[in-house]
Amino acid sequence: MNCPKCVAPVNEIVIEHVYLDFCPSCRGIWFDKDEMAFVTELKNDLPNPQAERTEGRPTAFPCPRCDGRLEELKFIPLLDLLVDRCPKCFGVWLDNGELQKVGTIAEHLLSPKNRILRVALQMKHHQGDFV
Ligand SMILES: [Zn+2]
Ligand SMILES: [Zn+2]
Repeated sequence: MNCPKCVAPVNEIVIEHVYLDFCPSCRGIWFDKDEMAFVTELKNDLPNPQAERTEGRPTAFPCPRCDGRLEELKFIPLLDLLVDRCPKCFGVWLDNGELQKVGTIAEHLLSPKNRILRVALQMKHHQGDFV
């Protein structure tokens, strides 16, 4: 398997019982469907309710797993973190540095102290329904 971004061959590494495809050249990581949810301990790969029905912005990057083409989607509605996802096999590609950002977001979503963040996110979603 080759990196969708820099075309270098990726290495398979095992961390926390998950096989991840890691590009040593650009330091991006590929997650097959459901692996992201497993790693973040969230219910879905992308905690963005719009990800189910919204098509992302097409990119020029090929999916490293199938013949799909990656699309850019927000990881979560309110924040500007864009990740690449394949609309066919639903794998997710994280560029270098995005893993840390996803980790911070997941931590906020899982912590009861941060319920306010979840309320704010859901309010935003509801307000969207009335526009
Ligand atoms: Zn790469
Ligand atoms: Zn794919």
